[in-house]
Amino acid sequence: MTLDYHVISTLVEDKPGVLQKVAGMFNRRGFNIDSITVGKSEVEGQSRMVITVHADEKGLEQVTKQLNKLIDVIKIKDITQTAVKRELCLVKVAVPNAKARAEIMQYTNIFRAHILDVSEQTLMVELTGDKEKINAFISLKNSPYWPYSYVKGSIKMTILENVLKDNKEFVENFEGEEMSHHAAKKLAILTCMDCRLIDFFEPALGLKRGDAKIVRNAGNSIVGEDAIRSIGAALYNLGAEEVMVVGHTECGMAGADAEALKEKMLARGIKEEDIAKYDLAEWIGGFESEEENVKDVCEKIKNHPLIPDVPVHGLIIDIVTGELKVLVDGY
Ligand SMILES: [Zn+2]
Repeated sequence: MTLDYHVISTLVEDKPGVLQKVAGMFNRRGFNIDSITVGKSEVEGQSRMVITVHADEKGLEQVTKQLNKLIDVIKIKDITQTAVKRELCLVKVAVPNAKARAEIMQYTNIFRAHILDVSEQTLMVELTGDKEKINAFISLKNSPYWPYSYVKGSIKMTILENVLKDNKEFVENFEGEEMSHHAAKKLAILTCMDCRLIDFFEPALGLKRGDAKIVRNAGNSIVGEDAIRSIGAALYNLGAEEVMVVGHTECGMAGADAEALKEKMLARGIKEEDIAKYDLAEWIGGFESEEENVKDVCEKIKNHPLIPDVPVHGLIIDIVTGELKVLVDGY
């Protein structure tokens, strides 16, 4: 099903309850209303509602027919092609210190945004423009040049809503199946949580659903007992007979810097005394070389007192080509 983006303008009677009736019509059909605005129109006693909705042509036609039957609806028009689209976005940004405050002031200038409200730790920014501009501003929160700020409130909901929307579509198109929880290929794998490995790692290793127990963490490392615990569970209870540690090239954990991490933590309001309780270098588990890390991790697994004598292989996958290289042959 292809989803399309439509802007619908409706002229309705200016009466209580009309908004709910119209919105309900979309909801019942499972359409996601992106935005809805209502205001008095140029005609006395009539309001104009502008609705932005994700719907395919066929679905939209059905809703339009239904809407036309509503007694309070006077006129409906699809203005997707002609509408001038402007969004208004209020963004609350954390500014833990004067430097962060100065930086956000600069960004608001660049984006021609306005600062609406100032408190000790936050700024409220008003931004208008098309979707791209607003997204560009919001995505600045991930920029290494502006590491202090994060966006509060609605943005988090939008990420969740997006996932739930995708999930609904998935469930509709997926035929459920019962499967064993034992690893069909008798493998326990420790690899990295890198997002580039999604939809890439399993096909590159020929793994299908049900084939292996896969533990993912930052830098396919053994820090503390948790990864060991999972590998142990796979070996003792879940049908795995061999272990594979698979690192990857260009790993974000290579060269992880404890000093820089401490700065970021302080900027985000973590207390110095709490940071002092940890050896940050050990806590984050950074390493110099991806290949050496794989070899070290294999040794840690083999030498762990609670891990039985099983083959432990060490490999590295090229994040660009998908090619595997064996660093430790566990047989
Ligand atoms: Zn990685």
